[in-house]
Amino acid sequence: MTGTVYKSTGSWYTVKTLNGKFYECRIKGRFRLDGIKSTNPIAVGDKVEFELETKNNTDTGVITRIEERTNYIVRKSVNLSKQTHIIASNIDQVFLLVTIDNPPTFTTFIDRFLVTAEAYSIKTILLFNKVDTYSEDTLLEVKYLASIYRDIGYECIGISATTGKNIDKVKALMEGKVNMFAGHSGVGKSTLVNAIEPSLDLKTKAISTQHSQGQHTTTFAEMFDLSFDAVIIDTPGIKGFGVVDMEKEEVGDYFPEFFALKQDCKFNNCIHIKEPKCAVKEALEANEISYSRYKSYLQILEGEDEHYRTDNWDE
Ligand code: GDP
Ligand code: ZN
Repeated sequence: MTGTVYKSTGSWYTVKTLNGKFYECRIKGRFRLDGIKSTNPIAVGDKVEFELETKNNTDTGVITRIEERTNYIVRKSVNLSKQTHIIASNIDQVFLLVTIDNPPTFTTFIDRFLVTAEAYSIKTILLFNKVDTYSEDTLLEVKYLASIYRDIGYECIGISATTGKNIDKVKALMEGKVNMFAGHSGVGKSTLVNAIEPSLDLKTKAISTQHSQGQHTTTFAEMFDLSFDAVIIDTPGIKGFGVVDMEKEEVGDYFPEFFALKQDCKFNNCIHIKEPKCAVKEALEANEISYSRYKSYLQILEGEDEHYRTDNWDE
């Protein structure tokens, strides 16, 4: 049988088959997907094959194979072992919630998030939340920011999770997909999920409470079917993706507007800083590339902005 992993407790995996039945499955012995060293061999979102075992009239499964993942996100443990934990896999898209204030979301955070998502091959949609609370000036700021990201290919929507503005658009985009929500604590992730699917209210509330008390319990990702044709992967306490190790020359490839110009740089290993005849710098000077994007790029290359380090993104 084949199915998708919806939940994991560490030793048992809840797998949903195509005809909608759930089975509790285990793995036997050592079981590793080639090339990935992680503390967990199987993660939420994995597509697996399993064999049924019937004991005392109960069916459980033994997982025998994992399909190759289209993508996956990880968390690196902070202890010395630096082991990788796979949080979730096969994610179609992530909605990054952004607020201008309460709390502020800085462009450096957005850009770092987008670079990581690009590196993981996960499509990102930007949701500018709490538009019901903004002054005219702040709304202009939203418009300006949205234009920057729209121009380089990211869909942007202004929404209000509390008034319901544009929630129908979000739902339409979610259809038929495996979705994730991300963003700083307080941007409205739980409120939005609740607006989309009120029955998920309890769980998200419980998680928020847990975190406001500063508890550091180990929380597992979990997948939920919605009442319309869409799936959410809930990743409690995780506001961003894990760290991605990249080479200096690689970072620019995850800025789509830089990548598009790369072939026009004189040097094919150009990192767009001091090289002569750099198409990215020329575009920057011609105002065709946003200065805030370029600033984020420099910060990522310098790697000195501890505050935005992707491996510190756990709440
Ligand atoms: P989370 O930490 O990202 O899950 O954020 P929450 O969903 O807990 O929201 C944090 C606070 O912002 C709560 O008090 C929400 O009621 C409020 N909030 C969320 N979305 C909106 C919105 O669109 N408009 C307004 N006015 N408040 C919102
Ligand atoms: Zn260049």
